[in-house]
Amino acid sequence: MWSLDDTIAAVSTPMGEGGIGIVRLSGSQALAILQKVFRPASRGASTLESHRFYYGHVVDPESTDPVDEVLAVWMGAPRTYTRQDVVEIHCHGGIVPLRQTLELLLRSGARLAQPGEFTLRAFLNGRVDLAQAEAVLDIVRAKTEVSLRVALEQLDGRISAQVRAIRSTLVALLAHLEASLDFPEDEIPSLDVSTALTQAHTRLAALLSQAGQGQIYRQGVRTAIVGRPNVGKSSLLNALLGRDRAIVSPTPGTTRDTVEESLNLRGVPLCLVDTAGIKASADPIEVLGIQRSHQALTQADLVLLVLDGSEALQQEDLEIAGLLGNHTVIVTVNKMDLPRVADADSVLPNARHIQTCALTGAGLPDLENAIVECVFSGQVQTSDAPLVSNPRHCQALRRALDSVTLAQNAWQERSEPELVVVELRAAANALGEITGESAGEDVLEAIFSSFCIGK
Ligand code: GDP
Repeated sequence: MWSLDDTIAAVSTPMGEGGIGIVRLSGSQALAILQKVFRPASRGASTLESHRFYYGHVVDPESTDPVDEVLAVWMGAPRTYTRQDVVEIHCHGGIVPLRQTLELLLRSGARLAQPGEFTLRAFLNGRVDLAQAEAVLDIVRAKTEVSLRVALEQLDGRISAQVRAIRSTLVALLAHLEASLDFPEDEIPSLDVSTALTQAHTRLAALLSQAGQGQIYRQGVRTAIVGRPNVGKSSLLNALLGRDRAIVSPTPGTTRDTVEESLNLRGVPLCLVDTAGIKASADPIEVLGIQRSHQALTQADLVLLVLDGSEALQQEDLEIAGLLGNHTVIVTVNKMDLPRVADADSVLPNARHIQTCALTGAGLPDLENAIVECVFSGQVQTSDAPLVSNPRHCQALRRALDSVTLAQNAWQERSEPELVVVELRAAANALGEITGESAGEDVLEAIFSSFCIGK
């Protein structure tokens, strides 16, 4: 995967029916391979100019059968995505012409690209750094406009720029300390180590403080819907999704598994998890479902506790409410179309209470407002601060922050430059993992293999 010499090929658009589909080539043989399979319509186009589209046909060189009517472009290095020669063949969508074109390219000397290999080449050739390469993946997967904006910011290099700035401060400090250790008798210009460490600490902490918000945009707010059987959890999930997904049934205990669905709520991606009732059960299938529910609860960022407003509160309602102490909860009092019997206000009185009717959709806009407000509460997002949304970046930032804290302690308490040097080196390495300056092959492989082929 690390060789840059082969010419690689892949279909770069999603598989399936579409207006057009693009087959892409990258490598030194890209133009030669294109010329084997492409017949431009215009006779004057025997030599193809770089960065110009040509209309023509892909033709099987052996049988001379035409495969598809296409637009082809050859782009000479280095002004390309991978900084190598790149060819794009825009076929008529449909899987058959795309596959046939790809097969011809492979027969003509190209190798099938590994997942993420185009972007890997862009990284190895210095066109993008690692954080930017990962942003490409996020853009491909972005579920909402806000997630897309966060990923585009990352591609733009805003996070990388900040991380690099902090890293270079640390490296300068490291160089200073090492020089004073190695050459104690020489005149080394003095540097305020303590202030430099504090600055690095503040900037790292600021980046990390935005990370929670950033991860939410990337992965979605995990929202668990909990409540005893038959209060209307599945109906509520369906009403929120606007389509039937979970099985709704009047018999208690039919939602035995957890059901997960993504939902775009005014730009906030939600991952909704419908849970089987949390209760004791002897039925092995139900027990499994209940274990999953507990798990869903532990992982949830937000919990919708559903109560049946038309029935008196039951012991089970209170028991479930008792499990939610550490969560952000919205109490959803469902079945508001029926006469109100439950004393729902006494359940988690400090949480927001919203009345809904899952059957008619009444109260759902209030519920949606409450969800969006919970997500944004206290953390109004500022458009200037770049959001760290990638868990790998968060981990690396956290390690860097820990090391800088240890370095600060070592400096303040004992003035031991050796210890400070060790910690600063660890911090600089952790930051280098984000942009790729110090990422090992294993890290790179894990990142690029999660791409889809053709990216
Ligand atoms: P779950 O076990 O909590 O998932 O509950 P379901 O969604 O399966 O609903 C149980 C029963 O309550 C079904 O017969 C639903 O049609 C009914 N139901 C759900 N929401 C409402 C509501 O707002 N009003 C009324 N009248 N019935 C509802």
